Amino acid sequence: MSTSSEPLAADDATIKAAIADAHLPSLIAAVVHLTGDTSLVTGDIKPIYDFFGDGQGGLSDAQKLRAQAAAFDVIKAYFAKGKPKTVPLPMDVIRRMMNFVAGAEIPERYVPFLLEELALEGSDVKSGHWAEDIPASLKESFRVLIIGAGMSGTLAAIRLKQAGIPFIIVDKNSEVGGTWFENTYPGCRVDNPNHLYSYSFEPNYDWPQHYSTQDKLHAYFRSVAEKYGIRREVRFNTEVVQSTYDERRAMWSVRLRKDGREETVEANAIISAVGQLNRPKYPDVKGRETFKGASFHSGAWDHSVDLKGKRVAVIGTGASAFQFVPAIAGDVGSMVVFQRTPPWLGPTPDYHEAVGEGQKWLLKQVPFYAQWYRFWLFWMLTDGIYPMVQSDPAWNGPNSVSAANDMLREMLTVCLKAQTGEDEAFFRKCLPTYPPGGKRSVRDNGVWIAALRRPNVELVTDPIVEITPKGIKTKDGKEYDVDVIIYGTGFNASSFLAPMKFKGRDGVDLHAQWDGDPRAYLGITIPNFPNLFVMYGPNTNIVVNGSIIFFSECEIRYIMGCIELMLRKGYAAMEPKRDVHDAFNETIDSGNAGMAWGSPQVNSWYKNAKGRVTQNWPFPLVDYWDRTRTPNPSDFEFETKKAVAAE
Ligand code: NAP
Repeated sequence: MSTSSEPLAADDATIKAAIADAHLPSLIAAVVHLTGDTSLVTGDIKPIYDFFGDGQGGLSDAQKLRAQAAAFDVIKAYFAKGKPKTVPLPMDVIRRMMNFVAGAEIPERYVPFLLEELALEGSDVKSGHWAEDIPASLKESFRVLIIGAGMSGTLAAIRLKQAGIPFIIVDKNSEVGGTWFENTYPGCRVDNPNHLYSYSFEPNYDWPQHYSTQDKLHAYFRSVAEKYGIRREVRFNTEVVQSTYDERRAMWSVRLRKDGREETVEANAIISAVGQLNRPKYPDVKGRETFKGASFHSGAWDHSVDLKGKRVAVIGTGASAFQFVPAIAGDVGSMVVFQRTPPWLGPTPDYHEAVGEGQKWLLKQVPFYAQWYRFWLFWMLTDGIYPMVQSDPAWNGPNSVSAANDMLREMLTVCLKAQTGEDEAFFRKCLPTYPPGGKRSVRDNGVWIAALRRPNVELVTDPIVEITPKGIKTKDGKEYDVDVIIYGTGFNASSFLAPMKFKGRDGVDLHAQWDGDPRAYLGITIPNFPNLFVMYGPNTNIVVNGSIIFFSECEIRYIMGCIELMLRKGYAAMEPKRDVHDAFNETIDSGNAGMAWGSPQVNSWYKNAKGRVTQNWPFPLVDYWDRTRTPNPSDFEFETKKAVAAE
């Protein structure tokens, strides 16, 4: 977590070394805060949005040197003066600095949204002072059950605790952390930069790597859960079996199971904070059960199987396999990787790199550097890239959905070609034939192609037709005898909230209502299910743009807004109006049809069995932020306490 800025003696060497590690546009913005002098952001130094560049906004070497020299003088003076307080900058200057750091003309409607992300005036601007005027006794009369103690559930518990709303939190696992607890496969790491992939109110200036490994992510979420006193409240190894809504009392009655014993608890509201990617999906291939060797799924890695020297088959080349194949390729005797669809590789040279000590120093010691650095990551990786994955209906180029998307395709193709070299057949095998952004692209620093080119590794693209007791058979008749099969075949993502059962108003069953096609209003509320709030629900996932933590923070603010509304107005329960919910989902569907991942050329887990994109938010993040800042009462039907009591 963030470390307080104790005054440090900063010698010239320390400052110079730190500046050498800096993201210069962010450092220049910090320098403006320290001096109030805007000349550095109004002169000839003009960063550009350089997605494929060196991360320094396309500055020339001379400009970099000039910026570094100016920053050195300012930081040295700042320490020499004993770290004086900075004076808030006028809004027009902040506005100019946004464009400067982003390297883009940021549209006006983004400004309030980005200002909140920037959090110049404090680190937890999103929590607000939640309904301080509502009496504690009223708050205490409203009890919430949180399902899941992963990233979202921990966040929900923190917000409820801060608000003084009592809650029960359960998790089927024996520890907090969700996906970061469950996925322990070799090479597992976050594929969003860590300085963005962390709670906005709990920055960590000590991330060891830009994309840290699973153990570091788990340690972070665990320490946040501990810091806020959540971890000790979690009922571990406890599964939710069925939740039933009692209309007469406007209460949920929830059956929990632990160690084979069941217990029923009651709550005014449920927050489901379960993951989408934790129920392993195995391929529907003939003979799978007949295999005599060891086999396991990436999401439930069997560490008792020693892979040293073994003949290993890997099925799948998605985000998980992409990480574990390079991590184990050097240990196994031989490996056959069965690929159905190649991933697009997004060049990320610092993917495995340590965060420089200088960068850590700047994050901790130079006021506002951390905020601008996160702001830059946020813009670059979220709404900055959005136009490149939008479809242009007039575009009909192959394997792309617009001119910008085609340019991205060409750039990624050139990068791939640089790795595959003269081997045209291998290049063709590795080249995706769908638009970039159609599926989640993976972060690449060269280790994937290098692993596939190892002498002990073979990439097979012929379809699998059968799994036999000895190995895997492909359509061309070849048989691959192996000792171990590792399934990197993804998750049953479309069955939201399964296997839990929910019985809502009039005994309606949630999964029957969804009929394999889950929908919710803003991904959070569902008609017929009063006071059931979902985090990471339908259509709140992202392909290219953003961090899922951003969505969770929006969702919990909205849910807290719903609870506040009920407490203020004396309502017992709320559910979205059917027409509001339906109209919202129509907008979502047409939005997704206009994105690379909605393109008919793409088959992915984002689409359910009915071909509808159930996973993704199709619009810029600013729209989700805007729509979830506060619930609109006219979107809902309410039950009053009076009506409930009178029955
Ligand atoms: P996935 O993206 O769904 O990939 C599954 C892979 O298995 C795909 O390559 C798929 O091919 C292949 N496959 C499925 N059935 C097959 C068959 N019968 N024959 C051959 N190949 C088959 O699953 P995942 O890699 O576990 O990743 C799931 C999601 O988890 C990611 O999209 C990401 O959101 C998340 N994730 C994140 C991280 C991270 O942040 N570090 C890491 C891992 C995962 P097709 O493409 O042809 O279907």
